[in-house]
Amino acid sequence: MSDLNAFREETRAWLEDNCPASMRTPTPENEVVWGGRKQEWVNPDSKVWMERMAERGWTVPQWPTEYGGGGLSIDQDKILQEELRRINARSPLQSFGIWMLGPALLEFASEEQKRHYLPQITRGEIRWCQGYSEPNYGSDLAGLQTRAEDKGDHYLVNGAKIWTSYADQADWIFCLVRTDTDAPKHEGISFLLFDMDSPGVTTSPIELISGASPFCQTFFDNVEVPRGQLVGEINKGWTIAKRLLQHERQMVSGIGGNSALGGSGTKLEDMAKHYVGEADGLIADAAVRSDVCEHRMNDRAFQLTMSRATDEAKAGRPDGNLASVFKYYGTEQNKRKYERLLEIMGTQAVGWDGVTFSEKEIGTTRQWLRSKANSIEGGTSEVQLNVVAKRVLGLPD
Ligand SMILES: Cc1cc2nc3c(=O)[nH]c(=O)nc-3n(C[C@H](O)[C@H](O)[C@H](O)COP(=O)(O)OP(=O)(O)OC[C@H]3O[C@@H](n4cnc5c(N)ncnc54)[C@H](O)[C@@H]3O)c2cc1C
Repeated sequence: MSDLNAFREETRAWLEDNCPASMRTPTPENEVVWGGRKQEWVNPDSKVWMERMAERGWTVPQWPTEYGGGGLSIDQDKILQEELRRINARSPLQSFGIWMLGPALLEFASEEQKRHYLPQITRGEIRWCQGYSEPNYGSDLAGLQTRAEDKGDHYLVNGAKIWTSYADQADWIFCLVRTDTDAPKHEGISFLLFDMDSPGVTTSPIELISGASPFCQTFFDNVEVPRGQLVGEINKGWTIAKRLLQHERQMVSGIGGNSALGGSGTKLEDMAKHYVGEADGLIADAAVRSDVCEHRMNDRAFQLTMSRATDEAKAGRPDGNLASVFKYYGTEQNKRKYERLLEIMGTQAVGWDGVTFSEKEIGTTRQWLRSKANSIEGGTSEVQLNVVAKRVLGLPD
């Protein structure tokens, strides 16, 4: 315990000295740091904060120090997160590299690849996108058709991906390709990494109902990918792909079980008091109060179940398939949160633009629409239920 207490003191002092004051406020949309070659530093403190955290290995606290991580234990990381929350520190770096690709590389990449790619991820130098889904091959991902032909020193990639989040802003892609067209579908897939600036790569943004265009269709036309950028063995990419999806599902499930809204930190109960009214410190309407209580109790139960799973993993009993349980529940819970919120806000929840609605209200309506995608991205709710039925409950096909 005393070691952990000393670590907390040291951490608190370091954060006090190194976290700029403007990094202790909620993050406006245009100041989120995704890193990479196209990052624009709207607030110069964001750069200072990311670089200081990266230098200490704390953009990825638990990764080994030789790959740019902090080498912290789970308990030390918990303390670091508590201390960051205590001062309302912003996340220094958002990154598919940190959440999805990095953990897969730690498990499957060669030593040379780890030393090359992982430190770039920890320092936010390269922004990654995920080239999995294709038209007709989303849930049935293993049927993917993008081809990579072996040309000796390189693979020649041809095909198209869809729903590639931020492909137009990413520097590199981790991409599933078919390298054997005769083998059963799961056994002819490989996992490639390549630069989005490679000749033959083009992206075309897709506009969404919310007005934003974070997705692209991504085309590959005779893209040459050096042989050394294959991760793992040829035709064995499906194993890597599945493990990466578990990390993705873990990440997406984290958005559930939290009654705070978006980046604002406002709680559901505060919104209810504001829109429905407050009586003696309680939400005035008994039915709304009961709904909010039920939601909060489910949040709490979900958080406790997730932390139990973390403790079990720490005790040497990890179960990757639980990611599907959490992905399913967390994303459905987040959707329910926004549905409840819309009921609470009443007519103030239907704003799109204009002066009748505040910026925050318009933002909430857009977030409600965005939340609908949570149970699709990273594999749909139905697909998670299939995984739970087969791999967790052991039910027959
Ligand atoms: C916000 C967001 C971000 C995304 N980002 C990326 C990205 O960066 N990279 C990427 O590669 N992809 C990305 N995707 C794509 C995502 O992975 C797919 O949308 C998802 O896997 C579903 O595939 P689909 O859209 O083709 O739907 P389909 O597979 O066509 O599914 C249609 C419907 O049929 C149901 N269904 C399908 N098969 C079954 C089955 N066996 N049993 C029961 N029901 C079934 C589904 O649940 C769904 O309701 C993103 C999607 C979203 C919404």
